[in-house]
Amino acid sequence: MALYFISDLHLEHQRPAMAAGFKAFVDGLTDAEALYILGDFFEVWMGDDYNDPFVDGVKATLRDAVERGIAVYLMHGNRDFLLGEAFCADIGANMVAEGSVIHHGDESAVILHGDSLCTQDVEYMKIRQMFRSPQWQADFLGKSLEERIAFARHVRSESQSGQQMKSAEIMDVTPIEVDKALDEAGVTRMIHGHTHRPDVHHWQHQGEARERIVLGDWDDTQGWMIRWEKDSAPQLSKFSF
Ligand code: MN
Repeated sequence: MALYFISDLHLEHQRPAMAAGFKAFVDGLTDAEALYILGDFFEVWMGDDYNDPFVDGVKATLRDAVERGIAVYLMHGNRDFLLGEAFCADIGANMVAEGSVIHHGDESAVILHGDSLCTQDVEYMKIRQMFRSPQWQADFLGKSLEERIAFARHVRSESQSGQQMKSAEIMDVTPIEVDKALDEAGVTRMIHGHTHRPDVHHWQHQGEARERIVLGDWDDTQGWMIRWEKDSAPQLSKFSF
């Protein structure tokens, strides 16, 4: 049995081919113990009370995975940070917090979306703090769905925060933040997404060998995943659909 990790699908109703690719990916998970979705699963999330046929289809795919015995875990990204307990309950999934440590046999890794590591983007870090504050979220979710949709459209099209959310993906991680997060977690391996720079990095930190595995973003024809078999190192790969 293996653990699987994906991130940065940025699903939206304009991308039916990617949603079909995601379904094919899930259908093909025959040895999965768990599927971790490390953020930006959706391009935007307005609150768990939002629903449309596209979202229903994605939920059905996730529900199917859960019914087949795969534990599904969702982490917030910088786009879908409003995904909540109602969404999870609806499909039988669980939220997993940024910075959680996963143990698999003799091996372990800390998991993050990745935007918290991009501290050079000072403007984004400010807006991130606002979006992640319980007060802002409660106020926002208290607005009508129409108001929230209008806000999202505004953010995406022209506002400064929209630009900042985009620039967040242009920046790469700050190495010192990576080492800090590894120190805090007490492990030597990190898995994250967000930067759209799929790669495996190895380096030494104070005499300790460290590894950072970065998931890639999906498009209409291909995706990235990490497959992690017990007692061995997680493997990053690209696949087509
Ligand atoms: Mn992201």
